[in-house]
Amino acid sequence: MALRMSKLFLRTLRDDPADAEVPSHRLLVRAGYIRRVAPGIYSWLPLGIELQRNVERIVREEMIGIGAQEVHFPALIPREIFEASGRWADYGDSLFRLHDRRSNDYLLAPTHEELFTLLVKGELSSYKDYPLSLFQIQTKYRDEARPRAGILRGREFVMKDSYSFDLTDEGLAASYQAHRDAYERMFSRMGFDYRIVAAVSGAMGGSASEEFLAPTPVGEDTFVQCTNCDYAANTEAVEIAGPDVVDASDVPLTRVLDTPDTPTIATLVDRLNSADLGLGRTFTAADTLKNVVLKTRAPADSDWELLVVGVPGDREVDLKRLSGQLEPVAVEQAGPEELAKQPGLVKGYIGPQVLADLKVRYLVDPLVAPGTSWVTGANESDKHAAFVVRDRDFTPDGEIGAVEIRDGDRCAKCGSPLEIARGIELGHVFQLGRKYAEVFGLTALGPDGKPVTVTMGSYGVGVTRAVAALAEQTLDDKGLCWPRSVTPADVHLVPAHKNDETIFEACETLTADLEAAGLRVLFDDRRGLSPGVKFKDSELLGVPTIVIVGRGLADGVIELKDRASDERREIALSSAVAEILAAVGE
Ligand code: ATP
Ligand code: MG
Repeated sequence: MALRMSKLFLRTLRDDPADAEVPSHRLLVRAGYIRRVAPGIYSWLPLGIELQRNVERIVREEMIGIGAQEVHFPALIPREIFEASGRWADYGDSLFRLHDRRSNDYLLAPTHEELFTLLVKGELSSYKDYPLSLFQIQTKYRDEARPRAGILRGREFVMKDSYSFDLTDEGLAASYQAHRDAYERMFSRMGFDYRIVAAVSGAMGGSASEEFLAPTPVGEDTFVQCTNCDYAANTEAVEIAGPDVVDASDVPLTRVLDTPDTPTIATLVDRLNSADLGLGRTFTAADTLKNVVLKTRAPADSDWELLVVGVPGDREVDLKRLSGQLEPVAVEQAGPEELAKQPGLVKGYIGPQVLADLKVRYLVDPLVAPGTSWVTGANESDKHAAFVVRDRDFTPDGEIGAVEIRDGDRCAKCGSPLEIARGIELGHVFQLGRKYAEVFGLTALGPDGKPVTVTMGSYGVGVTRAVAALAEQTLDDKGLCWPRSVTPADVHLVPAHKNDETIFEACETLTADLEAAGLRVLFDDRRGLSPGVKFKDSELLGVPTIVIVGRGLADGVIELKDRASDERREIALSSAVAEILAAVGE
């Protein structure tokens, strides 16, 4: 295949689009791959379509590779179907809603759990029909609050979504693993640097859920990764190591101290270090134990229950992280109303010593490890207690990862420092369980004639987002730089002259030869353009191998350039096809 730039529907732009927030967006527009229609809504031009198809092809091959079968659903869905799952209401403003000429409500689907479940229910009835995985590559609609970064977060975008249907939890685990493996293969093939990030903490026994993230500073997702091992988790699901085993046998008995006028941790630390207390050592905020009063409520309950969480005084409680682990139990800061009901809690001077007697649930962050000694409230106004030792002077009801994660916190798996990074979510694998099957009554008749509720997995990949994320991870200051597996052409052929006939003729012959060898050639056959303009375009467009035919032709040599490394070398025209095939890796 050869694409001739004189005919190709492509115009590169010298200037950045005014609304471009991130480099990939700027370059995809400038290089003529996409054009904006409205916020988060884009048209795809010929080279862009080529890229998108190549990503799709890899996704499709890997899905078929695990035995998933392709289907295709409409984007336009009647309201009733989303009403049944509760998502007509739950989706809120993110759902595009419309009605037909008879005033019936419709929506543009943001995702398709309902339709997959209903389709399978309509077709299958016996346990013999399972397990089963179905997928589609289809356009989704979400009225995102902040469509940004071009196609990275669109309001119309292409997604591969698949669903697995199993009769047992073990079956679901196997289908999940197959998808996870397929995702690893597909993102590797596309040329991504990616991380698999735990998305729901295992602490409360939630179903498996993992995200595939492409690390990049422009990513909207924050995650935590180990600087040594392969551990990575999003900030809600991360677990960190507590201190090493602590020996509390030498810690003196608890001492109650007068600490008037110490409303903050900093003023308390000053007081602790004043000579007249004679505590015999220096204290920092990290030696104090801060007890934060929260409230929780299970979905079925109407009343809130108090929960006190203990963290080192130099750390903040991360409510988002807590709620990720407590879900579906809701958690919030306790208000004056709840506090008034529990007068034993002296505001500003709460210590865990009395919580068990007060029957207030108390959880500590793993940093508050067994045997650690703390300065904390003495449960009396103007008094703190020093040398309060966990499991000697108080015993918490349990541990929960509560602190806001910091760079340098230690990995729960290997103890090495963690770092906080940003990434783009490429895909998500998730054990949905029986939620949708229960809503829509998807059951299969078991061998004993009794109905079994089907359990499902849900798996998404952002196809159009993957194009932008790849651009983002591979671009440089000159332009785009596509991995070979997705590039819109294998070779970009540039005549280094405005109109020299010999050079253009040699390029024509080479184009034909490369085509015959099975390569996709982008030939810049535009006449009258200076070589400089053509070189700039070749760098902007990002085809990984650039072949330049210029003055050397008289000596039978042309130039081969690697877009990514900028390495150039001369090759003989006579052996050009073989050399280029080798460079392209065919
Ligand atoms: P995000 O947190 O980025 O909004 P999500 O959790 O809403 O993503 P899912 O509902 O799991 O995403 O959708 C599956 C995949 O579809 C995501 O992993 C992502 O790659 C892609 N995707 C989601 N929203 C968009 C969007 N607005 N534009 C482009 N791709 C998207
Ligand atoms: Mg979203």
